[in-house]
Formats: sequence, C-alpha cells, structure tokens
Amino acid sequence: MAILNILEYPDPRLRTKAQPVDVVDDELRRLAADMLETMYAAPGIGLAATQVDVHRRMLVADISEEQDTPHIFINPEILERRGTEVMEEGCLSVPGYYESVTRSEWIRVRALNLEGAPFEMELDGLLAVVVQHEMDHLEGKLFVDYLSDLKRQRIRKRIEKGRRQREPATAGAL
Ligand code: ZN
Repeated sequence: MAILNILEYPDPRLRTKAQPVDVVDDELRRLAADMLETMYAAPGIGLAATQVDVHRRMLVADISEEQDTPHIFINPEILERRGTEVMEEGCLSVPGYYESVTRSEWIRVRALNLEGAPFEMELDGLLAVVVQHEMDHLEGKLFVDYLSDLKRQRIRKRIEKGRRQREPATAGAL
C-alpha cells in the first residue's frame, strides 16, 4: 500500500469530472486500499479518487473512531434523499477550513463493491454527509463552492499565501 498525494484547492485538477468505472479489477482494488491508507494517515473520514488525481468514480469513507469500518463506493448514485441537515464540514483538499454546509439528512445510495457487485445502502447523519461531500468531488465540486464568493476568495488567498511561504523550504530540500 502507499500514501498518495492529495491535491489542494485551488488546484484545477480538482475540477475534473470523474469517469465511471467499467471494470472492478486488481488495479482498482489497489487504488481503494491506497486511498484508505491515505485517508487514515491524513487523518480524514472520507476521500474521493479525484483528490488523489485519479478521475474515476470511486470514494472511500470511515467515520469510526477506531478506523476499522471502511466503506467503499464505486460508481455511487443517490437514488433517494430526504430532509436537510447543516453540518460543519472540512476537506483534506482545503486544509484548515471548516464551514457549515446544507445537505440531505438521509440518502439511499447504489454503488458497486470491490467485487464489482451492486449494493444499496441507506445512510444518515455524518456518513450521509461524507458520502454527499465525496460525490461532489467526483463532479469536480468542492464544499467551498457552497460558500459566498467573498468567503471562498478569502480561503483561496490564505491557502495560496501559506503555500508560498512553504516553498523556500521545499526548494532548499532539492
Ligand atoms: Zn473533500
């Protein structure tokens, strides 16, 4: 397994719309394992393939404290949604920022598992929010897109400033 590099906002590659998975093969299973390892190491509770610059429709999630309940969704689709819920969200691609986002409270999702078999799952609470957040990534959408232009610009500027300040150290390491 390997820890993958996570793209950070405003990297334009995060805007790529992911392609459906045709075949669930060993390569995809390896990617799922690497994505889980990357998510756990971050640490995070969800990760979409888009965030590791692989533009295929797969996401992983685990909201357990023990990091022992992984969920993998390949070609996820929301069949049904109910209610609304406002939750404070963060994102491994927008490190350090947390903002309130409104999403469906309950969803019924259909996806493929790692054997390529379809399954359906009803989700609510945090896991429902995580899956909706990660499915946005597969569409090239980020949680900051739900914020006002002003707020998003402010986040973008602060992240870019932080990156510039980190750059000399990186250059020195060459
Ligand atoms: Zn995210």
